[in-house]
Amino acid sequence: MSKEQKLRIIPIGGLGEVGKNMMAYEYGGRILVVDAGLMFPDNDMLGVDYIIPDFQYIRDNAKRVDGIIITHGHEDHIGAIQHLLAVVPAPVYATPLTRGLIEVKLARNGLSNKAELRTVQAGETVRIGPFQVETFHVCHSIPDAIGLGITTPAGLIVHTGDFKFDQTPVDNWPTDFAKLAEFSARGVAVLLGDSTNAERPGWTPSERVIGPAFDEVFLSAPGRIIIATFASLIARMQQVADAAVRNGRKMAFVGTSMVDNAKIAQKMGYLDIPEKTLVSLEEALHLPDKDVVLMCTGSQGEPSSIIGRLATGTNRQFDVEAGDTIVLSSHPIPGNEEAISKTINRLMRRGGH
Ligand SMILES: [Zn+2]
Repeated sequence: MSKEQKLRIIPIGGLGEVGKNMMAYEYGGRILVVDAGLMFPDNDMLGVDYIIPDFQYIRDNAKRVDGIIITHGHEDHIGAIQHLLAVVPAPVYATPLTRGLIEVKLARNGLSNKAELRTVQAGETVRIGPFQVETFHVCHSIPDAIGLGITTPAGLIVHTGDFKFDQTPVDNWPTDFAKLAEFSARGVAVLLGDSTNAERPGWTPSERVIGPAFDEVFLSAPGRIIIATFASLIARMQQVADAAVRNGRKMAFVGTSMVDNAKIAQKMGYLDIPEKTLVSLEEALHLPDKDVVLMCTGSQGEPSSIIGRLATGTNRQFDVEAGDTIVLSSHPIPGNEEAISKTINRLMRRGGH
């Protein structure tokens, strides 16, 4: 067997770390890239906005790249795509929502015309060079996430992407267990599984437990409710919208990335908010405090996010007021604990609860 006839699995980023996920599969001199994500900087990396994988190898071999497939629309999986596409002119395969989020990112970087985007639905199979890629739906904190069964001449590789085995997901679309069973029956040469906190014993509760938790907040909050989460957490947007409807509040999205993503998700049918519930920030700020819920970014204490700016009193359109109830609706990403604690302290000092 010559060197070229071997399968090479090359982690470009994301292996043993949280962020900048990128993997290359190489066979017979042809390359398939999976994901192109970013990593958020540590507190001591002053002046660094974000970190991308070192993909010099892919860059040097750009002509041999047959395609890039993206598992889902989180920043740690798509956040470096504009940098990759600037030097590697390969087609990008993604599910409809992931593609929509990539389009937003490319438009912001003036790359819309440079990229060749191809839509793939969960469950479809695409041929990319010597790789037969079967996509399958996985449940994750963003809709339209997929895992990959990659058939190579050297055997079947299962690349899960980020996933959760939630039996009662908010969007009623669980992981495709049947496909996993089928792979298993066929015989899997390599399984690459990606799951933060996988080393913790026990299990993660269903996202559904969040609904009643929100109701508790909505029932007891005397004034405005400000909920922070990731701009990509469409399922959480839906849960807040549902709680707003149940509790008779109007809802507004704050911040460019949140507003853009909500718009795309609504347009594509992944987010359903009644017209009379959703208002603009401008309108929300003129309503009585007790009738309003605002949704914004900053659950990780990022200084440039809306919550980060509220904490330091540098947000342009509005400020934290006594009577505001602020919810950081996400677990801290490992490493962000310090920034989050600082942000919470500052918000409390400014009168927030
Ligand atoms: Zn993810």
